[in-house]
Amino acid sequence: MAKRDYYEVLGLSKGASDAEIKKAYRRLARKLHPDVNPGDKAAQKRFQEVQEAYDVLKDDDKRRAYDRFGHAGPTGGFDPRTAGGAGFPPGGFPAGFGRGGGTPFEGIHFESGDLGDLFGNLFGGRRSSGPEPGEDVRGQIEVPFRDAALGGTATLALRREKPCPTCGGSGRTGKTVCATCRGEGVVAESERVRIKIPEGTEDGGTIRVPGKGAAGARGGSVGDLYVTVRVIAHPYFERHGNDIQGIVPITVKEAYAGAEIGVPTIHGVVTAKIPPGTQSRQRFRLRGKGVKDPRTGTTGDHIYVARVMIPKTQSPAGLDAATLLDSLYETDVRAELPRGL
Ligand SMILES: [Zn+2]
Repeated sequence: MAKRDYYEVLGLSKGASDAEIKKAYRRLARKLHPDVNPGDKAAQKRFQEVQEAYDVLKDDDKRRAYDRFGHAGPTGGFDPRTAGGAGFPPGGFPAGFGRGGGTPFEGIHFESGDLGDLFGNLFGGRRSSGPEPGEDVRGQIEVPFRDAALGGTATLALRREKPCPTCGGSGRTGKTVCATCRGEGVVAESERVRIKIPEGTEDGGTIRVPGKGAAGARGGSVGDLYVTVRVIAHPYFERHGNDIQGIVPITVKEAYAGAEIGVPTIHGVVTAKIPPGTQSRQRFRLRGKGVKDPRTGTTGDHIYVARVMIPKTQSPAGLDAATLLDSLYETDVRAELPRGL
């Protein structure tokens, strides 16, 4: 029988990522493992086929060689089922196996513990039927500016694997493969997960929700959910770390003579000073009126930026007032400009 393409064996296409390869392998190995299918020769054969495919594709060097030469390449003709006798030796091949020059296995480097690791990862160590923890799941939510700054809640709709209700996660009902989950032990279900948004959450930050990942196999623990937060920009407030910044328009008189004005902050309007002689774009700080840092517990500041508004209505009185102001500059306002590059 002609050897099947390794990607085909794992149900993947040629450009599959390392994560996809690993995932496909885990899924198939779980389903086809001899402990789950005692006495099933076809499953056993398929299990070994999957194993061999994974062993080549998970290794960058072997995969490259396979992509280039296929089964006819340096790995061609090598059959781990016969090379190792009946099945794989427990604990993997001895160190240095296949490394000697001139062996028919040149280019293939099984290392001691390689296969042991593989089984260890998959089946929880010594016993191949032991519990296996569920995988972590990742998601993303958009959070309003206010909730990210002050805290709130959000809901995320996601599909996640849960233990199969029919077989209780074993994948079998009596002597047959469970029809509900087709032997996987888990079923995918839609769920709305409520997520607490801590005060001071930043754009791009991650929130961990324990126990909302994929179900474990055979009684293994449930994975976690990791949610990446995208904070929706606010039309007025800008956030810089734990500081919040906003522009406050002021009149010519307020800028010239100074004033007390109401400055909007995320905690409400705060009365703040505009000192005499304030310029446009001048920045002032209100301590502790920013965002509370979830790690340190310290609170950032509110920064308000002055913008001097000039009346647009033209009038002789306005011109007189402006002319009078013009006479009050001590130096040329453009004295410090460069003359060129
Ligand atoms: Zn089931």
